[in-house]
Amino acid sequence: MSTRRTQVLQPLEDIVPARIFKSEVMAWAKRIGVAPKEIRLRLMKNKWASCSSNGRLTFNTELLNQPARFRAEAIVHELLHLKVPNHGRLFKHLMKAYLSHRDII
Ligand SMILES: [Zn+2]
Repeated sequence: MSTRRTQVLQPLEDIVPARIFKSEVMAWAKRIGVAPKEIRLRLMKNKWASCSSNGRLTFNTELLNQPARFRAEAIVHELLHLKVPNHGRLFKHLMKAYLSHRDII
């Protein structure tokens, strides 16, 4: 029996359609209290997501194939940048506060 680490394919439930991903982003945005102007998905080479100064978020389509926990981290990270533009203490504190709950997956 193979271990999870050697599996090439992700478990089925970890692959989500774009519209589900966007609704995950919106649910987190509501929870965090931010309102992204636009949520886009496109293939990105070097990062999982980016945030423009005018509030538009772009997520890497590769996130659709990542485990739920990883998606949540990427989503919360980018949404928090609408509140905190850097990765300082406040940012780290908020990341921990939002992602330490057991109910996120
Ligand atoms: Zn960042």
